[in-house]
Amino acid sequence: MTTPAPVTAPASRAGSTSPQPAGPAVPRPAATLVVLRDSVRGPEVLLLQRSPHLDFMAGAFVFPGGGVDATDSAPDIAARCVGLDDAAASARLSLASGGLSYYVAAIRETFEEAGLLLGYEPAGHLLDLQPSLEETRFAEHRHAVHDRRRTLAEVCAAESLQLATDRIAYLSHWITPVSEKKRYDTRFFVAAVPENQASLHDDIESVSQLWITPSDALAMQSRGELMLRFPTIKTLEMIADYATTEDALEGVRARGDIRAQLPWVIRRRDKVLRILPGEPGYDEAQWVNPSGSESVCSETTPGVVTVLSRRVRRLVAPNPGMMTGPGTNSYLVGDAESGDLALIDPGPAIDAHVEALLALAGQRLRWILCTHTHHDHSPAVAAIKAATGATVIGMPPPPHSNQDQTFVPDCVFAHGDRVQVGGTTLRAVHTPGHASNHLCWYLEEERLLFTGDHIMQGSTVVISPPDGDMSAYLASLEALLSLDIEAMAPGHGYLMVDAHEAVRRLVKHRLGREAKVVAALTALSTPAGATLDALVARVYADTPEKLHPVARRSLHAHLLKLAHDRRAVEHEGRWSPLNP
Ligand SMILES: [Zn+2]
Repeated sequence: MTTPAPVTAPASRAGSTSPQPAGPAVPRPAATLVVLRDSVRGPEVLLLQRSPHLDFMAGAFVFPGGGVDATDSAPDIAARCVGLDDAAASARLSLASGGLSYYVAAIRETFEEAGLLLGYEPAGHLLDLQPSLEETRFAEHRHAVHDRRRTLAEVCAAESLQLATDRIAYLSHWITPVSEKKRYDTRFFVAAVPENQASLHDDIESVSQLWITPSDALAMQSRGELMLRFPTIKTLEMIADYATTEDALEGVRARGDIRAQLPWVIRRRDKVLRILPGEPGYDEAQWVNPSGSESVCSETTPGVVTVLSRRVRRLVAPNPGMMTGPGTNSYLVGDAESGDLALIDPGPAIDAHVEALLALAGQRLRWILCTHTHHDHSPAVAAIKAATGATVIGMPPPPHSNQDQTFVPDCVFAHGDRVQVGGTTLRAVHTPGHASNHLCWYLEEERLLFTGDHIMQGSTVVISPPDGDMSAYLASLEALLSLDIEAMAPGHGYLMVDAHEAVRRLVKHRLGREAKVVAALTALSTPAGATLDALVARVYADTPEKLHPVARRSLHAHLLKLAHDRRAVEHEGRWSPLNP
């Protein structure tokens, strides 16, 4: 298992003068079992309350579980696993090997902590602990296993038991945040409680137990009556909607690839949040806060500065909306303490934003750079130039277009031109498509690409003809694959990593949409051809209707590209396929 966390990292990318902290603790392999039983109100889960004297998750209600130990991967226990071998278990857990030990650990820990043993008797039925004699004998086994006087394999041998690994379904994978001292790499499993066995907490690690429906547990947690940790809450949410234990097991078994959940800590609007892979801002949180410190901020709140790196600060303009996401990102580039500064995309001419940028940049502002001249990116240039005398760089808007005609660059840059801002170098990357005069800006020292509206986070780029051009857009995306990019700072939304992967995804998305356009042209083919309105309803059936007026523009761009490629033809505003 590899974790995405760097081994040694500064407290934040902004740099720190205090001594460097040691790298994050290496997560220890662990397994957890969500035990379910049916009730009239739906499935209930078993939660154990951890002792308040423990140094990890003290007082919290958790599922039974704990660290994988050496005995969990011993050959004598593997031989007792029913319906599962290490190859199959490892494949399920996306591991090269050792997967079976997690299943065994889940069973062993549940036996130690809750007294429930998922085992088969020689006759083939689940272990029956109802006869009091059995119960007493297994209570002794349980203590012996807990005290490491006996292994689970030895208990199985003495009692002629097999482990019911075939009754366990793999649910999820959680890794403790990098900022925590004790870290676990935990596989969560689900199983039904064995009939004829009663759970009993051990009174050592856990001080009480609770059978409760997931929704009741979540309600108690929100009222402050039950302490639940983040992965427990997320797990309860995952299983809250199943009507029966059988449904839950079936649903969990049907899950596809299970992605590791490594929550990342970040401060936002003065609250400490844990965000998960795939949630907005996860990449940025990892980028600005490699050590997972609770004091590092990442904001797209207008007026709040986010320090993205030693050289880059972001201030979001107060123009949120359907097309602008949280607002336009203005970036200040250059040493935060001294020397020249450059400003990328001053944004709309909103007084509060202009004042905030001037307060931040002061008289050190030497360059104003624009990615393009749509009205949410460049109109604040004039006021900032007037206040600072900074030199304006970019490409002028197409004449007679409805773009910001007040934008008159002092220096017209072409692809590959550079500007030096103190020790920082910004290079123009011409990326026509969203706009013909679109420039991305490449910060060479950090391999960070300011993408403007060429690539945005959280919203789809609109290609609006005639200035927007789908063929050019796709070519500009492909061109980024030859650039070594560590991260992308978009014109709207959070910073993104895995740039080439994101670019490939965007190209695939556009070509997928193009295929839908071709299919719709064929399906709606009449001698007169299809109208844009008929096509948009069909091609963008997966998009909310309120976005269709905007989607119509991108559709038009797709059709113009198809016409250019000789695959479609337009006649009096109606479109028909052109078969090869
Ligand atoms: Zn734009």
